[in-house]
Amino acid sequence: MAATAAAVPMDTRGNPHNVEPYQDNHSDVAKLFIRAGDKPGKPLAKGPQIGSAGASPSFVYITVCKSDFFCGRQIEWKALYPSVEKVPDVSTTPKSWTAALAAAKEAGGYPSGVPLTTADASGNYVYPAGVNPSVEPVCSFPSGCNKASDFYNAPDGVLALSFDDGPTAATTNLTNFIKKNHISASHNMIGSHIVELPTQFQQIIASGGHLSVHTWSHQHNSALTDEQILAEIGWCMQVIYDNSGLVPKFWRPPFGDLDNRVRFIAENVFNLITLTWNRDSRDWAIPSLFDQTIQKSVDEVRSYVNGSKSPGMNILEHELNDACVTVFETVYRDYVKDGWDIRNLPDALSKGNNGKKQ
Ligand SMILES: [Zn+2]
Repeated sequence: MAATAAAVPMDTRGNPHNVEPYQDNHSDVAKLFIRAGDKPGKPLAKGPQIGSAGASPSFVYITVCKSDFFCGRQIEWKALYPSVEKVPDVSTTPKSWTAALAAAKEAGGYPSGVPLTTADASGNYVYPAGVNPSVEPVCSFPSGCNKASDFYNAPDGVLALSFDDGPTAATTNLTNFIKKNHISASHNMIGSHIVELPTQFQQIIASGGHLSVHTWSHQHNSALTDEQILAEIGWCMQVIYDNSGLVPKFWRPPFGDLDNRVRFIAENVFNLITLTWNRDSRDWAIPSLFDQTIQKSVDEVRSYVNGSKSPGMNILEHELNDACVTVFETVYRDYVKDGWDIRNLPDALSKGNNGKKQ
């Protein structure tokens, strides 16, 4: 899906992040996602298994189980989640999440001076007149504002490899290529897509992929209420956790639509590292926008590959379709030939910390 962030200036900041790939299974954040009856760090045990269609309610189910809690295998797996491809109904948000949001606000630091955006006639998301989104207190990434806490630049010499918008039908091709070349990528995934394509989600795990969050339904977060942002991030973390036992540590906001209000919820409620980018393959525009082609994207990426290795590349790439995968497969040879150190997101940050985990 289209990413529209404007070019942002390069800098050479170090990255102070904790670089563990996932959050501790016994952390307060993990407790938001562990379902009753399940053990920390384990995929759904009591509930329906990934992709399962469920069974018709039986006599035993109705008379003995009485609820999905005890006999969850009877229900369709998808029924555990909100409707796909739209903002979740916030009345279904677990109470523990809204309590965590309230507690984060109570603890301080909530940026009260960040109004919501609205879509203008051209489909651009804009702040009210008189608000400058390039500076504090808004600090919008599409307006060129970065925070030290954002994962923007990669460490020198490192190519931070991640793909947005999966799983999709193109995931099979991508993960086959990744396995063949013995590398690991991070996958910034859309929760709705996991529900729609559970087999491809499992292919990502089987390829050694690192699982990261790209929200439930890929909205412009700056236009959503706090409670809607909470649900968009939370349900994506929930579907990843339920089906892998892993609590994500990284997220990329759709369209790079990020401001201090969005950062606060992602970081202070869910303890996520926010990923932006410092290079754009523009593969998201193929084939329908701006006359973008596979060759144009390849040429653009090659111009970055041949450039300076300081800072490293945190490049925006997608697994939207086979064209995006073809761009990656083509430029991968250039990455290797030019000596880039290709790493998934947490491994990239580990490199920035001299290879030591913090
Ligand atoms: Zn996206």
